[in-house]
Amino acid sequence: MNGNKSMKTTYCPLCGKEHQPRKVERDAATTIKDVAVTYRETVFVCEHSDEETNEYETASLTNRNLLAARDAYRERMHLLTSSEIAALRKKYGLTQAELAKVLGWGEVTVTRYETKAIQDEAHDGLLRIIRDNPMELNRFLDRNKKALGEIRFGELKNRIAQVMEEQGNAALRRQAVQSAYLPFHEPSYANGNTSFDERKFTASVNYLASHVEYLYKTRLMKMLWYADSLAYRDHGKAITGAVYRHMPMGALPVAYNELLALDGIEVKEEEQEDGSTRYLISPGNERTWEILNKDERAALDEVISKFKYFSAQNIVEHMHRERAYLETSPGEIISFEYAHHLNWD
Ligand SMILES: [Zn+2]
Repeated sequence: MNGNKSMKTTYCPLCGKEHQPRKVERDAATTIKDVAVTYRETVFVCEHSDEETNEYETASLTNRNLLAARDAYRERMHLLTSSEIAALRKKYGLTQAELAKVLGWGEVTVTRYETKAIQDEAHDGLLRIIRDNPMELNRFLDRNKKALGEIRFGELKNRIAQVMEEQGNAALRRQAVQSAYLPFHEPSYANGNTSFDERKFTASVNYLASHVEYLYKTRLMKMLWYADSLAYRDHGKAITGAVYRHMPMGALPVAYNELLALDGIEVKEEEQEDGSTRYLISPGNERTWEILNKDERAALDEVISKFKYFSAQNIVEHMHRERAYLETSPGEIISFEYAHHLNWD
């Protein structure tokens, strides 16, 4: 017996010794089906090697890099990535073999899509249909009941019903936001020349939450107002299209509770000892950021670097010194024209 297992050394094929390999991640390029793609690849580097090349891949790294390249190709071709396929399958609580059976495919088809093979367009289309529409999955399930057996059939029916209810609730929340923003549809001083854009709002929230630790609701709302104001001041257009009102703690978007309940925004409720609730914003999915352009990110970055270490109270006090706050009345919509008088640097 020995207690050295925690060292996690492996045999290095370059120097022939057992040691801890150093992992390096970098951009790489390749061609798949005549399409040039770039992706992130991971290799091991040996510092003891005198060979010309001091890099190597294990079989599992090779698989991971191939998957990354193929996923880059899928994104390029607007096909579902392997992780998107896995996510839609898990949403319904299906195993890889079960999803294949439900769709009447060969039993290993889904496993291959999640690990190496690229799906054709027909299969991609089918996967999208059942992802977005639980009733379609239900139809396939009925058709292939025998292949799944009575018990799993019943369990999956229940799960489909649950997914439908969740999607229905999400649709209701989205409608609540849409109806609150209906009066502000036209670009104006109220929305910073931007019709409310749910995807940009979600992206901005996730971006801020990824760069600021312990981001709670109050701080988030002020940071959003500052980011929208900076984007408006510098480029004539706010990022999210949110409309902000003068509230006791500063600017607060119309329908703020419904906004935080939107799909794609992750909020943790924390019960406090005094019985109140705090809302902690989680970073969410990084891929939502892709929709933000360079100017929008720059505005968010500027807000992050200024307020990153501000407490909620500090940022509220900062907001209270804004003309946007001092010259508007409680409940009034704050015109984005105040962005030109921002209390900044
Ligand atoms: Zn080595």
